[in-house]
Amino acid sequence: MADMWNPLLETMDRRELEQLQVKKIRRLVRWSIDHVPFYSEKFQGIDPASITTLADVQTLPTTTKAELSSVQSRDDTLYGELLAEEATNVATYHQTSGTSGEPIKQADSRRDWEWWATNWATVLWAAGIRPEDRVFIPFSYNVFIAFWAGHYACERIGAEVVPGGSFSSEERISIIDHLSPTAMMTTPTYALRLAEVAEQEGLTPADTTIERIVCAGEIGASVPSTKDRIAERWGAVVYDHAGATETGAWGYDCGEGDAGIHFNESMFLVEILDPNGRPVEQGETGRLVVTPLDRRSQPVIRFEQGDHVVKGPTSECPCGRSYRVAPGGVLGRADDFKLVNGVLLSPRAIEDVIRGIDGLSDAYRVVLAEHEEKAIDVATVIVEVREGAPDRCEQITTELQTALQRASGLTFRIEIQNQGSLERSELKAERIIDTR
Ligand SMILES: [Zn+2]
Repeated sequence: MADMWNPLLETMDRRELEQLQVKKIRRLVRWSIDHVPFYSEKFQGIDPASITTLADVQTLPTTTKAELSSVQSRDDTLYGELLAEEATNVATYHQTSGTSGEPIKQADSRRDWEWWATNWATVLWAAGIRPEDRVFIPFSYNVFIAFWAGHYACERIGAEVVPGGSFSSEERISIIDHLSPTAMMTTPTYALRLAEVAEQEGLTPADTTIERIVCAGEIGASVPSTKDRIAERWGAVVYDHAGATETGAWGYDCGEGDAGIHFNESMFLVEILDPNGRPVEQGETGRLVVTPLDRRSQPVIRFEQGDHVVKGPTSECPCGRSYRVAPGGVLGRADDFKLVNGVLLSPRAIEDVIRGIDGLSDAYRVVLAEHEEKAIDVATVIVEVREGAPDRCEQITTELQTALQRASGLTFRIEIQNQGSLERSELKAERIIDTR
């Protein structure tokens, strides 16, 4: 059995686990009705004592991002009617990136912040981070929560943490070279970008001391060919994690083959629902609804995460955890999909194809535009050929066209440029440009 942060919880008997979840959510609903004006109003007429099974939980209404945003814009206070405690109890401020609308402002008390660190310690411990590790975080964390939480979780574990904000990529490579960190926390996009900069600086990333990379912020680390690419470039083991500002770090990678991510079910209730709001069967894909069971300052109950996952099995992972698995991790947000000539295009599927082709750099773009003459859409994939492979352009074009057609059912125009032509991103990349 794998070494775990909390073996008692992570291997809990499923029946006991469900009882624990029901008990926790009943307490959370009571707390929220009593202390959070938003839920006092939303849950009017609901008796927390009547919640005795998970089926009872499904009768509660879900909460959307749009609701949180509109509640916070209703009055002049920072957190609006989402805040439970007196403002003096808030210990940290963070906010969402605001990629889909106004950022949500998130309050956490000292107690809630400890809860974040515990959940991230679970993520990092499963990724093999131990007290003897030196963990480099090559980002300015700013008001974004994930790397702060990861930072504090390193301290909780007792690992040494090196904050890498406000440095250039070149300076960060120099830090890796001089401080010899054993692990790194980064977005998948930046892991690849940093590998490219290392090479430009005359360093082979696989020869550095980095042994483990924990990814956050994007779905990339669960896209098989991207995960393989990061692992190969850095000569490191790559772990995915899943979470959000509103809900916390609810999913983690145990590193067992192609397991995907486990839901941290003693701390979160994770539901996977069909379009009618009913739980999907095992093996089916559904939308994620997440409840952080122990957060109190600004709680959310049954939050519509906007992501899709496959409902995998429980208690079957070789790591020995009883927590349910989502094979392949987070599949992407429903609003990430693009409708092209009547076909739903999955950015994840496109990425998996491109990253699987030899001879290409890690940067790419997909441009969706109207056809010059006909009333149809044109999808163009722009890739960069790696230095040393320019004579393979024709072959790469054919390979890409065939693989993209197979993966998406669509015909793509392919444009090949020299390495370094596309703009590089330092955090998350916007790779699909829709000009229609
Ligand atoms: Zn596992």
